[in-house]
Amino acid sequence: MTPNGTPADSDIQGFRMKPPSAPENPPDFNLCTCVLASGSKGNAIYVSDGSTSILVDAGLSGIEIERRMKSKGLYPENLDAVLVSHEHGDHIQGVGVLSRRFNLPVYMTPKTKTAAAAQLGNIHDFKKFECGAAFKIENLTIHPFSISHDADDPAGFTISLDGTKIGIATDLGIATTVVKEHLKGCALLILEANHDETMLVNGPYPWPLKQRIQSRTGHLSNAASKNLLGAVLHDRLEYVMLAHLSETNNTPQKAISEVGRALTRNRTKLAVALQDESSALIHLK
Ligand SMILES: [Zn+2]
Ligand SMILES: [Zn+2]
Repeated sequence: MTPNGTPADSDIQGFRMKPPSAPENPPDFNLCTCVLASGSKGNAIYVSDGSTSILVDAGLSGIEIERRMKSKGLYPENLDAVLVSHEHGDHIQGVGVLSRRFNLPVYMTPKTKTAAAAQLGNIHDFKKFECGAAFKIENLTIHPFSISHDADDPAGFTISLDGTKIGIATDLGIATTVVKEHLKGCALLILEANHDETMLVNGPYPWPLKQRIQSRTGHLSNAASKNLLGAVLHDRLEYVMLAHLSETNNTPQKAISEVGRALTRNRTKLAVALQDESSALIHLK
């Protein structure tokens, strides 16, 4: 650490301040990710290959996202882009602020842009994508795909580099064939496990909200998440991070035990992403 408390460059391999002239120590991983926050109060996922770094959603305040990144030794100044899944506030709250503060292009579909416009404010560099059409952000290949959720044009993503693939699917009422096809072959999955069905039915939410969550355009239950994982499981799946857990209608223990039933003959590591603290940094080779 430097005397003022910031991590020295040499502290963190692969996360140097820009401009990185020539990488003296190339990172010993292909992709690295950290779920900075997950849940109905805010979502943000950091993905990097050590030189290109992006956020998938920025649904906390800009300040809080910066704070969480720095607490993991990650520099917000090194971000290259923000990718937006859909226009709900828990996914875009900090997008406008971070984009303006760090001069970041914001990737989203045109329909999401229209729906999010009032909340985002002025975005100087809007880049559009369409679900189903892959594109690149420097070295990273991003493949957005449609998910079933009550937003105008919601997207899940895979992010890949040199054959290593991360799949991200939260905020989906059902796992369609399209979702399953895209999530096959990932080394790491960030999968929604929103609610325990019994807790939701017996819980305090008003009936219309319960119906919305259970609907085809709502959120994925633990049991549905287990079935989705069972459909895309393969021997090289290293990690599953369960995400967007309801704080009212689920517990980390219930999510792990239900979804974990899909992994009985597999060495895949299973963890839960939380609302109030960032996950571990996960490095994939
Ligand atoms: Zn959400
Ligand atoms: Zn949503």
